[in-house]
Amino acid sequence: MERRTFLKFSAAAAAVATVTGCESSSASDPLPTPSEPVLPPVGEGVTWGSCATNCWQACPLKVHSKDGVITRIETEGKATDDWDSFDHEIRPCPRGRSMRQKVYNHDRLKYPMKRVGRRGSDEFVRISWEEAVSSVAAAMQKTYAEYGKNAIFMPLGGGSHDLNTGVTQSSVRLLNMAGGCLFFHNDYSASQYREGSAGMYGYLASNDGDTVGFWNTGSSLRSLENSDLMVCFGYNPMEARLGGAGSGYEYLNVKKKNNFKTYYIDPRFTDTAVTATDEWVPIRPGTDAALCEAIAYVLIEDGYANIPFLEQYTYGYDKYEEYITGVTDGIARTPERAESICGIPAEKIREIAQAIGTASAPFVTQGFGPQRQGNGENNARAVMMLPILVGKISGAGTNHGGTPGNDGLSHYAMMPADSLKDLMNMKIMDVTIPAASHLDAIEFGTQMKPSTHDVRYSDKSLMDADTPLETNVRFLWLASSNMLANQNGDINRADRLLNDESLVDFVVVVEQHMTASAKYADIILPEVSWLEMYDVIQSYNKMDCGSLMYAYGITPAIDPMFECKPAYDICHMIANELGIGSKFTNGGMTYLDQVRKVFAEFKKSNSWIQGDTFEEFVSFGPQRRPAGEHPNVGKLRDFVTDPVNNPLGTPSGKVEIYSQYFESKQSQAEGTDEINPLPVYFACDESYEDATASEYPFQCINYHGKHSAHSIHASTPWLNEVLEHHLWLNPVDAGAIGVINGQKVIVESRRGKLEITVRVTPRIVPGVVAMPQGQWRRMKGDIDVGGCANTLTDSKPSPVAKSFRSNTNRVRVYSA
Ligand code: SF4
Repeated sequence: MERRTFLKFSAAAAAVATVTGCESSSASDPLPTPSEPVLPPVGEGVTWGSCATNCWQACPLKVHSKDGVITRIETEGKATDDWDSFDHEIRPCPRGRSMRQKVYNHDRLKYPMKRVGRRGSDEFVRISWEEAVSSVAAAMQKTYAEYGKNAIFMPLGGGSHDLNTGVTQSSVRLLNMAGGCLFFHNDYSASQYREGSAGMYGYLASNDGDTVGFWNTGSSLRSLENSDLMVCFGYNPMEARLGGAGSGYEYLNVKKKNNFKTYYIDPRFTDTAVTATDEWVPIRPGTDAALCEAIAYVLIEDGYANIPFLEQYTYGYDKYEEYITGVTDGIARTPERAESICGIPAEKIREIAQAIGTASAPFVTQGFGPQRQGNGENNARAVMMLPILVGKISGAGTNHGGTPGNDGLSHYAMMPADSLKDLMNMKIMDVTIPAASHLDAIEFGTQMKPSTHDVRYSDKSLMDADTPLETNVRFLWLASSNMLANQNGDINRADRLLNDESLVDFVVVVEQHMTASAKYADIILPEVSWLEMYDVIQSYNKMDCGSLMYAYGITPAIDPMFECKPAYDICHMIANELGIGSKFTNGGMTYLDQVRKVFAEFKKSNSWIQGDTFEEFVSFGPQRRPAGEHPNVGKLRDFVTDPVNNPLGTPSGKVEIYSQYFESKQSQAEGTDEINPLPVYFACDESYEDATASEYPFQCINYHGKHSAHSIHASTPWLNEVLEHHLWLNPVDAGAIGVINGQKVIVESRRGKLEITVRVTPRIVPGVVAMPQGQWRRMKGDIDVGGCANTLTDSKPSPVAKSFRSNTNRVRVYSA
């Protein structure tokens, strides 16, 4: 922010504090208008904004505006740009740089609206804010009265990810104070990885109790400076996280600095493979565990397995060795056997095994693609098994097989309650379902139990009694979430359920844009964009991020557009209707008061941050320092140093090759699913080996394209030029089905069909097709011409995490 703009901001903010105060105790506080405390810039100005998208980088944007119009977005413009000394630019990628177009996009929501057509039909009429909030409040009260709190569900939403006082926090605060709701655990992205790593390494909480310990984050990418080998399974930071402080830039720099050997295992020759790896090893989707079994076979047979380490630090190695070598069932998991499954030549498998066996500091890592499978939990565990076998899970240059990360700044989000007593009685999160289960909860929620569908109660007696949900879900609250009819599996199923009026009573959507899911709303409440709001922004360094941590404050570059309001004010209006306005605002705190409160909490724990007030904090711009190592890495080192006094969070206290956690879940397996306590391969339905899917000859995967973080930027025209929506098809397959480059094709699965243009390229394995995920569904008859990958995917959950298996998906492809 330019100094003169900042001065205007400080003065006006002080004036607003004087005018509105914080002392009101009435049940219905006067609502702050959009321009109060928002500051309209007069003339030219520069403010700090954020790309608060779900790629976790939270890049700062320097936003130029003139006469209330954003004119351009710039990077920080630092004088120095030195990665080695952590003094480099937090450079936004094209997604952030195109934020002006996202703000002024044609599909920006302008007014409150109510549905007048079929859900999903995009038929709405404009209504007043008064009508909108009273409709939502009345529907909430009716649902609470007729079905109880667990009939209201707030799906996972990543549309505004890195905020502290944004739509998610405001919604959670309102729902908690209004009476509660059903909530979710785990997420879309990495649940199978989380559960797999929890099965093997346990629940390693960080020192401050932060639940990111659950993710079992690995070593920092910077530790590759000490490695002589990197083996990546489906790890693609240069497309998913390509900002200046992201893992892509980090990886590029460390690879340039220390040219360690890399094997890059992926069905796609990704941009990461193109840019900074030595060798692409193409693999069939979902067969990573079969490859790992064969690598393990060679490591064991050739004497690379570190037996003393395995005996001291692990649980169940004997069973694993018997399985791999064929003692258990007469089937040795040889490279030749794996070649027929994963498609990698046996001699290449031997070469990779020998590279791992002879490396002094191997860094084995994985992204989230291999785990987003019907057998994803085991793919994640099988990759982790490789460094365990050679006894190199901790120490300079090594990694325990998980996704890299660092320690970072904790978030201090606006609280869902303001008193300790209220926090102890939270009516949200006391019952949760897996994030991918909400369609099931709409259709047959009362049949969902802890033992079958991973329903979780905070009340142990309800868990012990295997209590089913008391009600189906009937009311959905979407807080900047496209997880209703786009980002969840089997959208055609979602469309059927959402249009069954006997099942779904009410859908409310708080959003910036008319997303595919917003079209299913009964009431739409338009929210301000990230460049029209205040907040405290912190980097998230704990998983797959760079090692520079930073924080900054953002202020509005322009007035709220049309009738859009900050989510806090929207929720406050609904709270007023429900008679809890004063409770929601904690006696009259405005949106900016909440931001200041969050900053005060943040500052208490981060004394290095300059600025004593939020306003001063904003004036400093991004403040940075190196991120430390993730607490999990230190805990693993302590375990290796002294396993008796530093046990892991597994039942045995050791690395569980034979997972007792997975053993306890075995009754939950359905159909061809398998829950095996050992980290081994199995073929699930619609996998490469599923003969029943022969009429759908291609495996179809979807990936995070560089044009969008999930579906957040899907309607930004500039970004659709960055990466056109194409189906990658190998030339061998194109010839076999008579399709040429640039041709429109139909891709059809058991769930639905979409239209897409073909890109014939050898960058994809034969027998596999791939498309970016996140396009917004747009139906023409029974064909999705928008090309949303989830028109094709299944909503059946994975066996343990009960999460999305969007890369286990068989399709056929034919001319449109
Ligand atoms: S998408 Fe991620 S890397 Fe790109 S600008 Fe936004 S936060 Fe930064």
